[in-house]
Amino acid sequence: MSIITSASGSSCWRGFDYYKCKKVRNVKKLNNNEYTSVVSGNQDYDVYLNLEHPRKSTCNCPLANGKRIICKHIVATYFSVVPNSAKDFEEEQERLQQEYEEYEEKQYENVIKYLHKMSKKELIEELVYVFDYAPEWIYADFIRRNDVKDS
Ligand SMILES: [Zn+2]
Repeated sequence: MSIITSASGSSCWRGFDYYKCKKVRNVKKLNNNEYTSVVSGNQDYDVYLNLEHPRKSTCNCPLANGKRIICKHIVATYFSVVPNSAKDFEEEQERLQQEYEEYEEKQYENVIKYLHKMSKKELIEELVYVFDYAPEWIYADFIRRNDVKDS
């Protein structure tokens, strides 16, 4: 278990932001595995980081104080102490983002292909469903762009 795998996704992201914004100050090395720091947030928080036993790390912010939670302040301190891990984290996030975009693109192509296979009746049912659940401007825009008359 590492600091990153012990922390929630949102703590990792926000910790990364804090690290990037240089909110970690007064880093002190106690030994190869233990560090302390002060991280500025709404106020200053005291962080104790234990690389060997991540869950023993502490922070006196409201989220982590007295609990075995790896908060964004602990993550930010970790990135400051092990800059390569911040680089790896950033690369991994970029890779995941790219994978997700590729997936979205492929999925969009699949939807278009599927639309081409649907009957007119099925398409009308789907469009009515969209009008019912989409924001109202989509319906209004449809009327504006099409010559809808009484029939
Ligand atoms: Zn904290």
